[in-house]
Order: sequence, then structure tokens, then C-alpha cells
Amino acid sequence: MDLLDTLTAKGLRRETPTREEALAVLATTDDELLDVVAAAGRVRRQWFGRRVKLNYLVNLKSGLCPEDCNYCSQRLGSKAEILKYTWLKPEQAAEAAAAGLAGGAKRVCLVASGRGPTDRDIDRVADTIAAIKDANEAVEVCACLGLLSDNQAERLKAAGADAYNHNLNTSEATYGDITTTHTYADRVDTVTKAHGAGLSACSGLIAGMGESDADLVDVVFALREIGSDSVPVNFLIPFEGTPLAKEWNLTPQRCLRILAMVRFVCPDVEVRIAGGREVHLRSMQPLGLHIANSIFLGDYLTSEGQAGQTDLDMIADAGFEVEGAGEPTLPRHRAEAALGGGCGTGGGGCSDASGTEAAHACGTGGGCGPCGGHGDAPAATPENDELRSDLVRVRRRGAGTELAPNA
Ligand code: SF4
Repeated sequence: MDLLDTLTAKGLRRETPTREEALAVLATTDDELLDVVAAAGRVRRQWFGRRVKLNYLVNLKSGLCPEDCNYCSQRLGSKAEILKYTWLKPEQAAEAAAAGLAGGAKRVCLVASGRGPTDRDIDRVADTIAAIKDANEAVEVCACLGLLSDNQAERLKAAGADAYNHNLNTSEATYGDITTTHTYADRVDTVTKAHGAGLSACSGLIAGMGESDADLVDVVFALREIGSDSVPVNFLIPFEGTPLAKEWNLTPQRCLRILAMVRFVCPDVEVRIAGGREVHLRSMQPLGLHIANSIFLGDYLTSEGQAGQTDLDMIADAGFEVEGAGEPTLPRHRAEAALGGGCGTGGGGCSDASGTEAAHACGTGGGCGPCGGHGDAPAATPENDELRSDLVRVRRRGAGTELAPNA
């Protein structure tokens, strides 16, 4: 197909596709799907080989958020029966992180619900980073604490944070439909602050919230422009007790097309299959590895993932390998520009700013880590307007509980 040949060639050259080409990927048919995966896979292998980066979520503070992000199980007024707890102590967080690292993760994502951190919260997170890095110097730490005030990003950087996550989540045009307590511009501002402080930008999106193809393309181009080094692609986990509980719009095929579109627009950036992987890709998860080069290991923020060992087995069975702690994730040209350039693509690059995994979207489905649930998903195809508690399983183990983490 001419489209895929063109997109592959552009991806190998780190050249930006056109908006029309990105839209055309989302419009491909099921008959073309394997060709789409193969084309995106060529681009993925060019920049990331067959490596899969594992990231591990530690939910430092769960629930009780004053913000109203519709996709989030921790939102104001959420009826989701998630774990609710305030800040973990540094040693508790370090213990949870150690489980993920022992399972093969190279990045720990420290996430806290809330609008944004106080200066005291930054102190807590600094102590937590120290506790984690004292035990394992090589670990990458990404913080996801919401909207940042002046100088907080610099303090996190000085404390040893490597990255900051704040997702843009959806297009600027539709942002007001999913949240009213902060704006798209607030999110961009935080990503910019993080990037300006020298933190690697992690910023992504949530698909499946009722957005159009144009919205998806808009947010991915915005992520490229803002300079995200890693782009978590969340698939909405429709959590019972949240406004989007019945929003079951995704199929595995649709998820693969979205991942491929992200890969073509951001060819040399860490593309992560984030929340909703098990819920929506289900038995097609291994095909996603041909496009994305990064996943979360084990559980999410407020929902359970498949067993960590199942993640590892899936990676090995599909012919991929877990990226080692000493191996750089980003290609050399990208790593060198990482704290100054965009999502990469050589030619028109993404400027500056950075992204994070969710402007505070710690939330469910979205955010830094899909707090959403997931399950050992049966191969059913969810219907719209139907609650699927069989697919969405609330996290009951790991951080904030007496039970061992899943890693
Ligand atoms: S995504 Fe973050 S800011 Fe929004 S409701 Fe959830 S925890 Fe609060």
C-alpha cells in the first residue's frame, strides 16, 4: 500500500507524516491491519530493535482527588471502590519499587493523586527518590504529581528525578469535555516547566473517551510538538462509578491502529502501551509489542494488570527482550537531544517542552498510569453502554495494602 510505504520511509528518516497520512492510518480496514502493524514494526525496530522497556507504577497517594477528570477513578465524586490512602512513607514506596525492579523494570513511576504537589509533598517525593536510588542507583525515576508550581520541577530534578509525567490526554478542542477543574493550557504549562528544568518529558494520551480520529491526531501531533520523550498510550478503562463507565468504544484492532499512528508520528520516541492494555488489546497484546517499545509491568494505579510473569512470558514468546538497566532507551540522536528537542523526528521536530505522562493524569485509564482496571480479560468484545466489571478489576494488592505487589 502506498500509504504504508510512505509512512515507513518517513519513519525511518524521522520525518513527520502529514495529518492526512496519520488520519488514513486510523481509517485502514481490518484486512489491512497486519500490513499496518508490519509497517509500524519496521519503524519500531529501526529505532528500538526488539527491546521492551518495563516501567513500574507506585501509587504514592490514592484517591481523594479534588479534580474532576471524567476518566479517573480517583476523581472528585468517584464511586469507584478503589483503594484510598494518603502518602506512602519513603520506605514503603521503595519496597514497592524494589518489587518492580526485581521483576525487570528499569523505570519507576511515582504517582500521586491531587491537583498538584505542595512544597512539603516535593520534600516527601525527594525522600522517596533517595530511598529508591540508595538501593538501586541505576533506576530511572519518573514523577507524576500533577500541576507543578514554579521551581518544583527544579527541586525534583535536584532530588534525582529523571523524568516527569503529565499527559495531555486529548485534543485541546475537547479537553473541556473531560475535565473542568483545570485546562489543557495548564497541562502544557506543567510539561513545559518539567522540560525546562531538565527532566525528560513523558506525556501521552487516553483513547476511547468518545473522541474523533481528528482529536487523536491532534493530540499526538501536539505531543510531538511539545517534545515528549516518551508517549504513554492509554486506552480508557471505563471504571464503574465514573462518568465514562459505559464508554466502551475500543476494539483490539482500533487500539493497534492508534498505536501505529503514534509510532508513525513519533517514530523515535518511547511509545508505551499504558493503561487498558489487557482490557482492550486482550489476546492481541503481542501484536502491540511490534509497534510500542515500552509497557507497564504488573499492576496499574487503581486496577490490576495481568501477572508480572505473564508480561515477561508474553515478551519472550513474541520474540522480544526486556531492556536492561544499562541499555539506553532512546536512540543516540534522540538521547542527545532529549532535554531540548521534541518527539523526535528529525525534520520538523518537536520543539521543546516536554511531556509527561499525564498532566496529572494520574488517573485511570489515563495518566501516568492507568489507574484503571483491567483484568485477565476474557476474549469478549464489550458492547457500548454496558458496564464490564468482568474486565475491570480494582487493585487490591501492592502499595497501600498488606499484600505483595504484582511484579
Ligand atoms: S487524573 Fe489526576 S488530577 Fe485528574 S482526577 Fe485523577 S488523580 Fe485527580
